[in-house]
Amino acid sequence: MTELSNIPHALKGLNSVVVHPDFKFPDADVVLSVTGRCLYEKQLLVDTDIRSNHSESGGASTSDDDEDFHSQTSRDRRKEREEKNNPEKPSQATLFKVHKSVLRRASEFFADMFSIPQPSNQDTIDGLPIIYMHDDPIDIHNFINHIYNSDVLHYLPLRQSTFNMMSSIIRLSRKYLLLRLAPAAMFRIRSDWPTTLEEWDKNDLQVVAITRWNAQVRDGSQDGGSRLGPEDLLVEPCRVIRFARQENILEILPAAFYHLSRLSSLNDPHRPRSCIEGRKRAHGYWMGGGRYATRSVLTPADWDTLMIGKAEIRAWFVNFRQYGWQSIHATNCGADDPSSCVLSSQGGWKNYWDEVIGVQTRKILAQDGLDVMEVLQVLRHVVLYDENLCSGCRVQAGKIVGCARTEFWDCLPDFFRLKRPNPWGGIWMEGEPVDCFEQSI
Ligand SMILES: [Zn+2]
Repeated sequence: MTELSNIPHALKGLNSVVVHPDFKFPDADVVLSVTGRCLYEKQLLVDTDIRSNHSESGGASTSDDDEDFHSQTSRDRRKEREEKNNPEKPSQATLFKVHKSVLRRASEFFADMFSIPQPSNQDTIDGLPIIYMHDDPIDIHNFINHIYNSDVLHYLPLRQSTFNMMSSIIRLSRKYLLLRLAPAAMFRIRSDWPTTLEEWDKNDLQVVAITRWNAQVRDGSQDGGSRLGPEDLLVEPCRVIRFARQENILEILPAAFYHLSRLSSLNDPHRPRSCIEGRKRAHGYWMGGGRYATRSVLTPADWDTLMIGKAEIRAWFVNFRQYGWQSIHATNCGADDPSSCVLSSQGGWKNYWDEVIGVQTRKILAQDGLDVMEVLQVLRHVVLYDENLCSGCRVQAGKIVGCARTEFWDCLPDFFRLKRPNPWGGIWMEGEPVDCFEQSI
């Protein structure tokens, strides 16, 4: 327990009062006291895991405060359970000793509060005025951490910690009038879960780079996962979906559901060990290396959405695999020397499709985590450099696959039966939908 002088009455009934070790500035002029039930039970559990990992690995527990904050004993867990069962009576408070000037700059609410004289009988601790807050302590921590340490949302990597920080700011923004921070956080969340293919590809490059780095440098193997720390985790899509529903940011759902759909449940590092032991890992697409999904936070309705979407995506891909050669871009071969191109013969496109696309994708269809966006990207590369085709036909084959990829992306809201709010509507209403295939099924 932290040594605090003159604990006010409001905090005396609590089981523990802890000063956050990262935010106890010696020249602080105000104390934020945060009690209250956590918004995200699961998020708390993840953060709890992080704290236990730190202490297990002999993390920097130098002071009593750190000891209090980081250790997760069975006593703490019992308290958490009690608190969960009786959310009206929080048993803990976290104190942040910070500066009015910093709070004032970030929040109109605090700016107003500090502009009027405070009552003379205000509670104090260590001689500093206390402000009692009933919010998720993790949200407040993320908010304070952001305003002190990382006022650079645009440059943070695409990781779970970045999403946690942004989502906390948006959750707190109405209550504390975060007029400057909230739009930047919203912009960042929308760019991380974009509505355009261009942005998706850009983000995916970053995700792939982080995943490879995690797998090769951190983990020391291609398999990924076993030695990664919480700081390596990429954004977990189930919490993004839950957040989008709660905050009504529906335009990020198609990208989030798609990302979730391509993560195989078989490789989920959070599966109980007994389910995985003795089995060879399925060769899922880049699973591990920081990617994971906490499917237990999905609502039953969103589970349903996920299952429908996965089935629709598979059906779309089977369709492409069988009938892609009927694309309007599959034009007659114009090579001067017909022997230079396999498409010059009668039935060339169909045969080519069966033998090249069909063979390339046979194994992929058997996998649980089907990533059509990635598969089509690879296929496009294959046909563009296929030496059995003349240069004109390579370009045409590349167009077929590229066009199919654009169509697939535009269909995401349909696959997941999602509403199309404005950003999606724009994509569909401004021009005719991409029509690459003559449907003759
Ligand atoms: Zn040709």
